Amino acid sequence: MRKKNFFAGPSVLPVEVLERLSEEIVDYHGQGLSMIEASHRGGMFEEMYDECLALFRELLGITDDYDVYFLGGGATLQFTMIPVNFLREGTVADYAKTGTWSNKATSDAQKLGKVNVFYDGKDNNYTSLPDVEKIVPSANSAYVYLCANETIGGIEWKSFPDTGDVPLIADMSSDIFSRPVDVKKFGMIYGGVQKNLGPAGATFIIMRKDMLSRRNENLTAYMDYALHSKDKGLYNTPPVFSIWAVKLVLEWIKKNGGVEGMDKRAEEKSSLIYSVLDSSSFYRSPVDKRYRSRMNIVFRLPSEELEKKFISESQKEGMLGLKGHRSVGGLRASLYNALPYEDVVALRDFMLEFEKRNS
Ligand SMILES: *Cc1c(COP(=O)(O)O)cnc(C)c1O
Repeated sequence: MRKKNFFAGPSVLPVEVLERLSEEIVDYHGQGLSMIEASHRGGMFEEMYDECLALFRELLGITDDYDVYFLGGGATLQFTMIPVNFLREGTVADYAKTGTWSNKATSDAQKLGKVNVFYDGKDNNYTSLPDVEKIVPSANSAYVYLCANETIGGIEWKSFPDTGDVPLIADMSSDIFSRPVDVKKFGMIYGGVQKNLGPAGATFIIMRKDMLSRRNENLTAYMDYALHSKDKGLYNTPPVFSIWAVKLVLEWIKKNGGVEGMDKRAEEKSSLIYSVLDSSSFYRSPVDKRYRSRMNIVFRLPSEELEKKFISESQKEGMLGLKGHRSVGGLRASLYNALPYEDVVALRDFMLEFEKRNS
């Protein structure tokens, strides 16, 4: 029996995708070799990659004035690549510090140039977000940066600021394809695929083409987005296995109603758990209701002993990954696209039953 997988990343994949990978791993479509042993300069990979990129564009409604490709290095490499490219002499980058991931991005940018932190959630322990209407970029802003969904803190931007001519850049590692995105509002969107899209390895990059004219000169090869744009991410060897699996996940998303279908699933699944939190004095959500994440639900119990007990008993019920991140403690249920609805129902029922027994 498959476990109920609430891990934050790497995380659950559609079982159909795992089965397809398993069926095709030895002999890809009767070609007599595996996708992961073929050259990335050959037709077999290129055809699959082009289909993957086309599907990615189709599902998110990305127009031709944007580049879409995959890189290696994880989302973390982008914390460096973004300022290295766009934080030019005489400009300042505007960052929102809203939790672990945007804080790390800010800290890397600060080592590379001038940064203005326009919001820091330190005072509310990173449980809330700024009012988008009040966000105004600095006069000489190179870009405005935010993390759309803080995977560890469990908060998610529900709308995005209008930054005018200043490019808006967002890390969407943990909520991409969970809801429609108005890509046109952004100069760049990026993220690791291992939360909502596939196995670890690839990082997706969506970048408006005119961003390239804003970058620094004399960049080393891998750091330079222009080079990746020209080769659609194939300047060096791409993470082939990860990309192949992403393509299959995208096909699964399409079959299940596209981003609108995923949006509906996310609403239904997260409501099951939030309604328990809202109607209980046993469970507690630390997060500002207006911004709570549908992908990563963070919650606390009355004591750390009960939290430990919850984790160990839920494991016995086949539920994995409910322990909160080591930096914040508590519990966290990640409800990514591929997590079946029934698994969330099982968690809801377990929560209700655990409360009855322990309160
Ligand atoms: C997981 C995560 C990252 C880091 O991704 P890596 O691929 O491990 O570098 C960055 N941002 C967010 C929002 C994440 O969830």
